[in-house]
Amino acid sequence: MNKKLTALFILLMIPTGRAQTPFDFNGDTAFTYLQTQCEFGPRNPGSSGYFDCRDWLIKQLQVSADTVIIQPFRLEDPFTAEWYDLSNLIAVYGTDRPPGILLGAHWDTRPWGDQDEDSFYHDEPILGANDGASGVAILLTIGTYLKKLNLPYQVMIVLFDGEDLGQPNDPQSYARGSAELAKAPPMPLPPEGIVLDMVGDKELKISMERNSYYQNPDLIRELWSLAGKLKLKAFQNYVGLTIYDDHIPLYRDAGIRMVDLIDFDYPNPYLNYWHTHLDIPENCSAESLDQVGTLVMNLLLNRGRKD
Ligand SMILES: [Zn+2]
Repeated sequence: MNKKLTALFILLMIPTGRAQTPFDFNGDTAFTYLQTQCEFGPRNPGSSGYFDCRDWLIKQLQVSADTVIIQPFRLEDPFTAEWYDLSNLIAVYGTDRPPGILLGAHWDTRPWGDQDEDSFYHDEPILGANDGASGVAILLTIGTYLKKLNLPYQVMIVLFDGEDLGQPNDPQSYARGSAELAKAPPMPLPPEGIVLDMVGDKELKISMERNSYYQNPDLIRELWSLAGKLKLKAFQNYVGLTIYDDHIPLYRDAGIRMVDLIDFDYPNPYLNYWHTHLDIPENCSAESLDQVGTLVMNLLLNRGRKD
């Protein structure tokens, strides 16, 4: 084969569709967002940390999004009968584009550490590094990317309030912000979405949450197949627990096919930091945020490419 023919042969061997390089999500950036939220202290409704963090979150969203909508609602504390003024924070990216996907996380933290081993601390509000700050941290980071990416569809980031004021054994007393959004959306909602909750655990293991598998099996398959391709080891290939979270009211009351990405065993099945005063940044990691952020960003980009 002469030189000319060799060159032609090599050219013919080059595949037409180039393999896409995975999007490089920055877990360290997300971790600083987690830390900043925790520096405000507990963010339970009515606390000073709640109001300071709320202002900061609105500013972050206003920098990245096309539109930010604050959805107010009222909620009664089941113990004190005190009424709280709460706020869902809604950021829209690509207002002029067709509806795409909703990404949500709750920004409020639990007013009690009622799972703490020491009952002395049960009435003390928790810091919520994982249960609250972790999902929000990933979504704030995604917001900074969306500002520059111009995806061909609309992305709605919603930071839910009033998720964690619930009473044990009364699921509907949880997830009140998502119920409010489902009941009275201030603008049309996308057909499907993903909730991120408790995604910062240092020992992150995310199985397919059972309600999510029922609500949107296609999205579950898409996410887990992508996690496999990206070699994201936190994602476990089996259907796990049934959990009541912000994905339930949105499906039940508004028909939005939501999936919940959650690791309920925090840190593992033998120890519990959930709803305790050990839910702190030291028990979370940038690497865990990185895996979840990488998965969601690559899902968004893959869908953009298909369109
Ligand atoms: Zn919680």
